Parts: sequence; C-alpha cells; structure tokens
Amino acid sequence: MTDPRELYQQVILEHNKKPRNFGKLDPCTHHAHGLNPLCGDDIELTLVVEDGIVKDLKFSGHGCAISQASSSLMTVNVKGKSVAEAATMVAQFRDMIRGKLDPAIDAHLLGKLILFQGVKDLPIRVKCAVLPWATLHSALEGESAVSTE
Ligand code: ZN
Repeated sequence: MTDPRELYQQVILEHNKKPRNFGKLDPCTHHAHGLNPLCGDDIELTLVVEDGIVKDLKFSGHGCAISQASSSLMTVNVKGKSVAEAATMVAQFRDMIRGKLDPAIDAHLLGKLILFQGVKDLPIRVKCAVLPWATLHSALEGESAVSTE
C-alpha cells in the first residue's frame, strides 16, 4: 500500500498541473470570489444549481498548489451532489482539517478528499485547503465574496 503522505503529494501535484473543472460557467446561478490574503490565493467559483442539485461548477483564479488542488478536487467531488450534501461536505471538510472529524471513525461524505487530512498538521496551509470550501459555502448562501482573514 502506498504511503498516504506520498499519495497526498502525488494528488496535489497532479491536480495542480491539470486542474479539473477550471474556467467559468456563463451563465451561472451562483458565484463567489474567495481570497486568502495570507498566501495570495485568489479563486472564483461559478455554479449551476438546478432542482437543488449542483449540476456543474468551475473554478478559476490562481494560488499555491494546495489551494489549486483543493479547488480542483472539490469541484470533482461536489458535482452532482445536492445542495444539502454540498453544505454537509463543507462542514465535514472544515472539521477534518481542524482535527474535529476523524475520517477513519466518523461517517462522512468526503470520499477521496480525506487525503487532505494531513493538512491539519500544517497550520499555515489550512486556509489554502479550506478556501475553495469557504467560497462554495458563500456561493450557496448567496454571498458573493469571502476572505479567510
Ligand atoms: Zn495557499
């Protein structure tokens, strides 16, 4: 079995190099802009929500490898989920990153996203990993801008 830290590195590098769902949806039903001034991560999220389902979502912007890979993986995992499930994933991802949810024990919807659990040991990177989730939360709540500060 592959070392989880090695797998984490591979996934981050791979998604950073080839981000999934990169771009903008036009028209979109929801959008938000997320900023992490501490690191300079800057992302814009556009979504198409229909009948309570996140039919499509894309992100654009720039930032460090962790924020880009986290955004890419988020879009892959949230696409096709209901708005309620997406909101639960936001809460569960935040809890996991803060060490309040242990994906090995607690039930969760995070799937492959549990790769990010190691980020909790790198406090300076927590905001980078959480940024796309905070932005998704704002978009679904109808707020258009979020800053991790
Ligand atoms: Zn960053």
